[in-house]
Amino acid sequence: AEEVGGDDKEVVKQYFNNSGFQRWKKIYGETDDVNRVQLDIRLGHSKTIENAIEMLQDEGSLAGVTVCDAGCGVGSLSIPLAKQGAIVSASDISAAMVAEAQKQARQELTNGAVLPKFEVRDLESLDGKYDTVVCLDVLIHYPQNKADAMIAHLASLAQNRLILSFAPKTLYYDLLKRIGELFPGPSKATRAYLHSEADVERALHKVGWRIRKRGLITTQFYFARLVEAVPA
Ligand code: SAM
Repeated sequence: AEEVGGDDKEVVKQYFNNSGFQRWKKIYGETDDVNRVQLDIRLGHSKTIENAIEMLQDEGSLAGVTVCDAGCGVGSLSIPLAKQGAIVSASDISAAMVAEAQKQARQELTNGAVLPKFEVRDLESLDGKYDTVVCLDVLIHYPQNKADAMIAHLASLAQNRLILSFAPKTLYYDLLKRIGELFPGPSKATRAYLHSEADVERALHKVGWRIRKRGLITTQFYFARLVEAVPA
């Protein structure tokens, strides 16, 4: 899995508008038509969402707090945040994902909650200022040099907090990933990049941010490091 050219983003966008959309909509949903691995990933991801919400609530009520959910997927985080009164800007590079998130938000946010503002947009082109910027399980699609630029840009949008999750690069997971690559299954349509925590921390330091809290979410087939960063 060595670095490729500059087209990661286009490949990722195509994937999440087509087969990746079908696959991840199912994993992030609630239906029974998932296999054992997908069910395990669903569980791991829902723990990441839960932990991120806990981190967000640690500073008090979310009512009226502006949150940018970059790479919002089907709205797994944006919708519960809106339920709690956060003013959510939800965006994703995939139009299919955004349409699905919007549909689910309309279904679930009925009694008075403010709907998130949805946009089809890659996170590199986001602008504005938000109290909190969150970006969950997106960096896995990009190599470290791209991730550095993404982290810097996301930090520039955040006034108080930046919450990120990524697949941690450790000897053990690197090995697992290599083994997995010897037996590529049909579901593995995109390459996954692991990021060392030190690299992510260095990218944050470079733009004047520091990590304040860390979490680790692991199930059998899902693993994510969750970090909350604040201005240093
Ligand atoms: N954050 C969501 C969650 O945790 O439920 C979705 C995670 S999903 C694994 C990754 C998402 O990132 C996909 O919806 C994909 O379209 C989006 N994505 C990938 N690259 C992106 C980019 N450069 N800008 C914005 N979104 C991107």
